[in-house]
Amino acid sequence: MGIDRSASYAFYLYTCNRCATCFISFNGENINCPGYTYFGLFSHTGGGKLYLAQGVLDKRIKEDTAFGRIVYECMFCGACEAACPSGIEIIPVIKALREEAVERGVVPSKVESVLRKVSENGKNVARQAMLAYRQIQSLASPVDEAEVVVFWGCSAFSGERSALAALRFAQLLSDRRIRWAFLEKEGCCGALPEAMGASQLAHEKKEEHANLLNSLNPPRVVYFSPECYAQALFNQKIEKDVLFYVDYLMEIFDGNPLPGHKGPVSYHDPCALTRGAEVEEGLSSYLESVGVEVKHPQRTGKHTFCCGGGFGGGLVNRNFARAVTLARLEELAATGADTVITACPRCINTLSRHQKGRRFRDMKIMDIVEFFTGG
Ligand code: SF4
Ligand code: SF4
Repeated sequence: MGIDRSASYAFYLYTCNRCATCFISFNGENINCPGYTYFGLFSHTGGGKLYLAQGVLDKRIKEDTAFGRIVYECMFCGACEAACPSGIEIIPVIKALREEAVERGVVPSKVESVLRKVSENGKNVARQAMLAYRQIQSLASPVDEAEVVVFWGCSAFSGERSALAALRFAQLLSDRRIRWAFLEKEGCCGALPEAMGASQLAHEKKEEHANLLNSLNPPRVVYFSPECYAQALFNQKIEKDVLFYVDYLMEIFDGNPLPGHKGPVSYHDPCALTRGAEVEEGLSSYLESVGVEVKHPQRTGKHTFCCGGGFGGGLVNRNFARAVTLARLEELAATGADTVITACPRCINTLSRHQKGRRFRDMKIMDIVEFFTGG
């Protein structure tokens, strides 16, 4: 639909008082917005997006190429919205700006090609992830005999680290004799096209996703990616019990897993979980509940900082993505813990990719399932 004067966010476009809290914390110690971290421009902040949307409504935005670039040079991470003291819902505005870019035909080519792949139902299995992918397939039960369906999502097999974590989860399920189903034609849950502003495609994918799950016997669906989980939580057409894999993990362990070590560890909260799925306190309490010492980075929980792999920015501008990842790695390293735990396939791939050859190379970055099953 694009920017619309009758949308619920339209009134708030004009209430922003430029207090800057969406990109710099009150005490000035933290930069909240990944876009501002790299570009240092108001146009790349949450408040800047509100002004950009005003410009669209008032027909002042004519430079289409710059418009298309700026609206995707953003991690779609929601840190701005979480920080805004006026409670302005900024993410719907960013989404509408991206819809506007789609309508104007000024979407960056990399975004276009990802959307094309989604619409063709292309499978995203990276070469380095293929071995783990095949092993996971071989561990699954026939769908008619399964208790749960595991929905892996497009990021699970986009890199080796996430694929190895996925394999560990699948092995755990099989070791515990849980009959779980692997969907050969999993498709897209709709999260990615929605974040990219392709609203019609997102609508179709959400419908397809719900119809596919509803046609299967298992009453429960376990999501391995917080992005897909957040999407499914708000997809009212899904008539199944929707679970995040970490909650399921704790159910399997009866709340008492055996951690790899007692810490100290640092925990990276994925934006898609704390803000997308509104699990505001994150999952570090699961670690603390079994006696692991967690050293929290400065930006944590609801105010966590993006790993650099967010929807949009992570794709269209590599230097931007890299700068955000390095900023996050610095912050995680500053806790003094040499092990970083997270619970998101996109985060584990992104953080691991940039630790090579730098002073972070001794840092162990692992998924919570790896930590709870021996490291
Ligand atoms: S924090 Fe909210 S009110 Fe302040 S500049 Fe950002 S969007 Fe505007
Ligand atoms: S969504 Fe994230 S990157 Fe985009 S403007 Fe808000 S805080 Fe900045």
